[in-house]
Amino acid sequence: MKKFLKVASIVLVIAMLACFASCGGNGDEKEKLIMATNAAFPPYEYKEGDKIVGIDAEIAEAIAKELGMELEIIDTEFGSIVGGVQSGKYDIGMAGMTVTEDRLKSVNFSTSYAKGVQSVIVLEDSKYTSYEDFYTGYDKDGNPNGVIDDLKIGVQQDTTGDIYASDKPEKWGFGEDSVIRYKTGADAVQALIAGKVDCVIIDNEPAKSFVEANEGLKILKTSYVEEDYAIAIAKEDTELLEKINAALEKLTDDGTIPGIIEKYIPAK
Ligand code: GLN
Repeated sequence: MKKFLKVASIVLVIAMLACFASCGGNGDEKEKLIMATNAAFPPYEYKEGDKIVGIDAEIAEAIAKELGMELEIIDTEFGSIVGGVQSGKYDIGMAGMTVTEDRLKSVNFSTSYAKGVQSVIVLEDSKYTSYEDFYTGYDKDGNPNGVIDDLKIGVQQDTTGDIYASDKPEKWGFGEDSVIRYKTGADAVQALIAGKVDCVIIDNEPAKSFVEANEGLKILKTSYVEEDYAIAIAKEDTELLEKINAALEKLTDDGTIPGIIEKYIPAK
């Protein structure tokens, strides 16, 4: 009986090893790369039916392929992505996400794969020609020292548009009281159309998509802030950070990433 058990356990161990080897090796069950995004940010991520498409979705797919992993995209609120990556709920956060000092306290960022610009959307017949029109005056160092009365700026909550606009005028913000936060960029744009806010401050590519999709809007010529987009990864996951940076470099050099960006943002 004892001998039988011994043989049985050896057989079991061999069977398990064989399974591990084949499961890991033939690609049937690849390790998952879980990406959190907010799929309301065209052309970086948006929904086509049930599918999440866009620049970030395609770059992530290419990275996963490079790493021999299987990509899973989870759609969540923008403001919960950094915390979810930090806690290990998601492996990466990719959402046209700007590298900021504050976010760097919670997560690491890959090398940047795209540039973003905060743009100002207004109604076509708006009297405003630049965000500088929102300031009443400047101090001796050239920094704004006040904003016009009843200014209402629409932003998507927790984004850099929100963070910068909510800052003090001395730091080129417009003050907390001037900012109205919406869950999505689309909600902020609807508020602009309904006359509830004077402008929307949002990243330039989604801004262009919103202006194209809705009549009677325009983007002001002077953009507000320039920034870098990158992939958020947990601080302790340095191995993944290195792998992703290597994949980004390869996919940039071989033309894959430029090709994906060109597909969604054709150069004029
Ligand atoms: N780039 C902006 C940020 O990082 C907005 C991103 C987004 O709304 N998906 O805050």
